[in-house]
Amino acid sequence: MAYQYDLFVIGAGSGGVRASRVAASKGYKVAVAEGSALGGTCVNIGCVPKKLFVYASEYGHGFDEAAGFGWKHEGVQFNWSVLRDNKTQEIERLNGIYGNMLGNAGVEVISGFARFVDAHTVEVDGKTYTAERILIAVGAKPFIPTFTGSDLVVSSNEMFYLESLPNKALVVGGGYIAVEFAGILNGLGVDTALAYRGEQLLRGFDQDVREFASEEYKKSGIDVRLNTDVERIELADATNQNGARIVHFKDGRSEEFGLILYATGRVPNVGSLALEKAGIETGKNGAVIVDNNFTTSADSVFALGDVTDRVQLTPVAIKEAMALIDYWFEGKDNNFDYDNIPTAVFSQPAIGTVGLSEQEAEARGIDFRVYQTDFRAMKHTLSGGTSRSLMKLLVNNGNDKVIGAHMVGDYSGEIIQGLGIAIKAGATKADFDATVGVHPTSAEEFVTFS
Ligand code: NDP
Repeated sequence: MAYQYDLFVIGAGSGGVRASRVAASKGYKVAVAEGSALGGTCVNIGCVPKKLFVYASEYGHGFDEAAGFGWKHEGVQFNWSVLRDNKTQEIERLNGIYGNMLGNAGVEVISGFARFVDAHTVEVDGKTYTAERILIAVGAKPFIPTFTGSDLVVSSNEMFYLESLPNKALVVGGGYIAVEFAGILNGLGVDTALAYRGEQLLRGFDQDVREFASEEYKKSGIDVRLNTDVERIELADATNQNGARIVHFKDGRSEEFGLILYATGRVPNVGSLALEKAGIETGKNGAVIVDNNFTTSADSVFALGDVTDRVQLTPVAIKEAMALIDYWFEGKDNNFDYDNIPTAVFSQPAIGTVGLSEQEAEARGIDFRVYQTDFRAMKHTLSGGTSRSLMKLLVNNGNDKVIGAHMVGDYSGEIIQGLGIAIKAGATKADFDATVGVHPTSAEEFVTFS
């Protein structure tokens, strides 16, 4: 049977763009359908604009810190609409670059949401397209629990386009997005509370990192409230849909906020795909189930990235796209290693982590030792800031290999990338010791542990 395309990709996010672009450059006839802006979550309402907001919010502390270095500043003001609109302009520039990249590679971009007709056919806005292979790369979307007043909260999606900033905000959740946005709002001058239902923020991270970061967030001005859960939310004035909200907490307290952000996880964005038409099986939260080579229960349909709900990170989706290309074009089985993925949380201070946490190492029964330090970074000797940095290294006693590196502090995201290479390459503590430190930096602490 002749198909219109060799490959039809659903979703022009990080994974979908990479797969379609590379497949087209290797000779496939490729189309990609995208219902919103090119670049997906990361470019439009995720990593990229978030990082721009983080930079903006760091100035909120920076002006105060500059005084100790001799700077005098008066009348500093922040204008949200300037930041928001400059950010949007930059994102639109990136959308254009994505469009050019796809066009130059010969990928046909189809604007609209695709849904399955069968395992070789999709429909976009009433028009059908057939393809030998179909790739699902639609990513994930925010999950907000249902309760009385849940329609009065926003998700991270809306945070990038707010009409104005509130005076007082509540962020609910304890994961990446919650701590990042709490830091952004706090740095931009919003009175910010962060409510998490459990004992400590950032479940899954090393316990020392969690406790240290939580204390640092408090020191930076965020009102961190642990073991705190929302019962219901109502409008302070029922006639003003855009006005203040009253949050009733489960412990009986009530409080007014101008904005409530729910950052309570993300779920696969499969709602409108009609996966059942192609016989595609899904698992928890609707995640598309794939085998080791990204093949779904329908042989002609593949899926990667957040829609498979494995590791929800842009660089992972891109690596998966490259592994899928190798599988298609070289016949190579996917050997992408999901261990030792370095990651950063762009909270303030930031967190960088790669490898095992102390708790994971214990659970795996590894005999290991820990090197750990915390200190005031040199910048804060004059800045007047009380912020401290944490560094932690886990070493396997059996073979001397470094099995985990964790940091809380300025530039953690930048620093952890290099450590990720070292750990991936199997560096031992002796290798770390033999490495000359870059002086004066915080990073040098990682090679001077004794
Ligand atoms: P996470 O899964 O990281 O965190 C969700 C948080 O919401 C958890 O603290 C969870 O609590 C809490 N939660 C879940 N359900 C409820 C509920 N019903 N009521 C109250 N709290 C609830 O999700 P995020 O949305 O923060 O981020 C999604 C993913 O996106 C991340 O896992 C990450 O992979 C990726 N990401 C990466 C970034 C980066 O690399 N810098 C930045 C942003 C996102 P509990 O712990 O108790 O389950």
